[in-house]
Amino acid sequence: MDPFADTLQRLREAFSSGRTRPAEFRAAQLNGLSRFLRENKQLLQEALAQDLHKSAFEAEVSEISISQNEINLALRNLRAWMKDEKVSKNLATQLDSAFIRKEPFGLVLILSPWNYPLNLSLGPLVGALAAGNCVVLKPSEISKTTEKVLAEVLPRYLDQSCFAVVLGGPQETGRLLEHKFDYIFFTGNSQVGKIVMTAAAKHLTPVTLELGGKNPCYVDDNCDPQTVANRVAFFRCFNAGQTCVAPDYVLCSPEMQARLVPALQSAITRFYGDDPQSSPNLGRIISEKHFQRLRGLLSCGRVVIGGQSDESDLYIAPTVLVDLQETEPVMQEEIFGPILPIVNVRSLGQAIDFINRREKPLALYVFSTSSQVVKRVLAQTSSGGFCGNDGFMHLTLASLPFGGVGSSGMGSYHGKFSFDTFSHHRACLLRPAGLEKIYAIRYPPHTPRNLRV
Ligand code: NAD
Repeated sequence: MDPFADTLQRLREAFSSGRTRPAEFRAAQLNGLSRFLRENKQLLQEALAQDLHKSAFEAEVSEISISQNEINLALRNLRAWMKDEKVSKNLATQLDSAFIRKEPFGLVLILSPWNYPLNLSLGPLVGALAAGNCVVLKPSEISKTTEKVLAEVLPRYLDQSCFAVVLGGPQETGRLLEHKFDYIFFTGNSQVGKIVMTAAAKHLTPVTLELGGKNPCYVDDNCDPQTVANRVAFFRCFNAGQTCVAPDYVLCSPEMQARLVPALQSAITRFYGDDPQSSPNLGRIISEKHFQRLRGLLSCGRVVIGGQSDESDLYIAPTVLVDLQETEPVMQEEIFGPILPIVNVRSLGQAIDFINRREKPLALYVFSTSSQVVKRVLAQTSSGGFCGNDGFMHLTLASLPFGGVGSSGMGSYHGKFSFDTFSHHRACLLRPAGLEKIYAIRYPPHTPRNLRV
């Protein structure tokens, strides 16, 4: 018995009927999403607090208002984005009409993770609905309370003949992926990304893969250590470090490290108090499994800040590690927790080599008062996104594409990029039915005269 067959059949029929295509229908779905956020704000805040001990501030800025902004932008621009895009023509097509039509793919699958369980479900959903698709959303089974709200409340705000939430973990998702979709949008880790892409390949289904990795953060000697420490500690500890674009490790000279460590301690104490475990502003690790993994990483190198953990509360203290070997696990795997290793380099060139010897990251950060240094790192490395002198602020701009490169992912979204991601760009040329005398020049038999054209 296939648990998904009926739902998928229903959505396919709805797409074939053409009802998702008109702008009015798309706008109605986006307005539904907007009402869902407004009318269930408290429920959502409670769910995020339950799942991740997310503070009201973090829930607001990184889950609710960021999703609301995407909806508002799509609603404001929907008709403009849907318009055919006229393109330039060559001599042979002067009398024709040439344009790109953005058409929906059809049935889209969105697989989302647990770390921003609302935003990373609704963000892609906005693009998929704005582009006129039918959508199956499979939220993460790990963020259980938010999953329940998405499954039980969200569908009431959307046309249920065109939208469905399905539930399940790896096994059920494996079965879901046996079905043919017209587009798959996956956010999660790189290993699962390979499973998704392999399943998609069986049907030649296009994919966007929003994956993770280790994001380097180079700190130049000329920086003010306290400014850097404030910014790095804030973005490392946001959502208890469980952010795909968090600065994963710092690269700096031993001299800068000596100035940075006390500044990081000062920032962490100011943000979370002397006992960060009692702070309402610090999140918790999502699960026992991730807690154990992170606790294992605390034994790498030497702890200079934090290092405490409490299994009963899934608490890991904001921690800074130094004296590390490149081969230690904390420098091999994506950390995804409030742990910051500092690795020493002797020069900017050595930092760039260190970055380029590894997989291309999702984000890269450089702190320097010299624009030459920032520009050199930008020119000599590659990453999904880049931010000079701050953490992941680049992703707050809907005018920038958000996505990875290499092992950190493929494809991008946010703002109009989302609409374009979920639209097939159809190449169209409309030629007059007549004027055959003009076009007859291309037919054989070919003579030296028509070769001169
Ligand atoms: P995950 O890959 O474990 O899970 C993501 C989704 O895939 C979930 O819906 C899950 O149910 C499903 N899934 C898990 N295992 C599966 C399997 N074997 N077969 C089929 N489906 C499976 O990811 P996660 O642990 O929820 O999230 C953390 C990871 O996601 C990190 O690596 C992080 O960097 C990455 N991430 C990336 C972005 C981005 O935008 N690039 C954003 C957030 C998280």
